[in-house]
Amino acid sequence: MYRRMLRHTDLDKACLEDLPVMRKADLMNHFDQWVTDPAIRLDDLRRFVSDPHRIAESYMRRYLIWESSGSSGEPAIFVQDALALAVFDALDAIRRPMLRPMRRLFDPWGWSERMAFVGATNGHFASTVSIERLRRLNPLFAQRLRCISFMQPLEDIVREIDAMVPSVIATYPSAAALLAEERTQGRMNTAPREVWTGGENLSPANRESIGRAFGCALANSYGASEFLSLAFECEKGAMHLNSDWAILESVDKRGQAVPFGEAGATVLLTNLANHVQPIIRYDLGDRVTLHAHRCRCGSHLPLIEIEGRCEETLRLGNERSSVCVLPLALSTAIEEGSGLFDFQLVQKGPCDLILNTASKSAEAEELLQKAQCALADFLRSQGAAGVRIACQAGEPRQVGRSGKVSRVVRDLTGGFTK
Ligand SMILES: [Zn+2]
Repeated sequence: MYRRMLRHTDLDKACLEDLPVMRKADLMNHFDQWVTDPAIRLDDLRRFVSDPHRIAESYMRRYLIWESSGSSGEPAIFVQDALALAVFDALDAIRRPMLRPMRRLFDPWGWSERMAFVGATNGHFASTVSIERLRRLNPLFAQRLRCISFMQPLEDIVREIDAMVPSVIATYPSAAALLAEERTQGRMNTAPREVWTGGENLSPANRESIGRAFGCALANSYGASEFLSLAFECEKGAMHLNSDWAILESVDKRGQAVPFGEAGATVLLTNLANHVQPIIRYDLGDRVTLHAHRCRCGSHLPLIEIEGRCEETLRLGNERSSVCVLPLALSTAIEEGSGLFDFQLVQKGPCDLILNTASKSAEAEELLQKAQCALADFLRSQGAAGVRIACQAGEPRQVGRSGKVSRVVRDLTGGFTK
């Protein structure tokens, strides 16, 4: 695909900026011509990822496969070769901040740690696949690493954590904040030594409440299905890009580079590790600010700021009895249960939700009905009874508090607050 596309380009003279910007739709539409191993076929990969029993199984004895969640339209499939995995492992081992240096001194490989990952465990998502891969590689890890599904009711998540007593909890900021609330209210016994977050925006309020509830250090990171360990936060609370393996270009709406210190409309990723599915100037959709100044921590890796997804946890029910439902769990329930990816869920009242989709086609209407049933089933399983879900097709998106379009939004104009 690239050979055809760049046939008129002098590659000895071309700069990165001369290469075309690629998007997820390009990747999925030209998948078989995009991968560098002609034996890899998209239809075969789709069958592979539709089977949850094959999570972290090696594909063609060579590759690891994961899919993105549908946060920006339909999911994409990513193929990792041995080099890419080695790089991700190395970055994770070396660049993740040392929250407890003495501990690392006596236990450099973390053999004594017990880690719980709380997330979507039933799909081939990057974090779940990565943890299952470690479990498969090393039987010692198998007992010390555990994936806990955030699709179950909160009390069941807490019960699983308390049964395991992990020293590290890795999860999304919204889930960590919810667990922090359980700990504060005395409903959770486990106090991990470290909390690792990623995948969503970590607000200062959530950071504070998580730290206060668990009394431990928190490490935030930034990654994507397209490059797992893009950036880690240092001890000064600044995010450092792993610029030796990933290039980020922050660009405006017209694709022009924005100056240091300014947030772009989107960011283009070039992944230098993956040779089987080249990711070159690939539009990630995040708003990123690149900085030119050095960090006080002494690291030479460049500083970046990310305006990531800012989804909201919904509290459903009345003042006497209510449940909190995680935004990513809601999205996963809708996607998995109906195949609807283009949606927004807006909470309008304690028991009132509006599920809308931008399209007005007959197919969209049908998917919306399926999504309504899937969502209702999921909410019942969470113990949220009596929630009304209205559906609207052809609706424009509501912009969330962050100024970004979010998939799960709270818009409570009534008197019910947290
Ligand atoms: Zn730093």
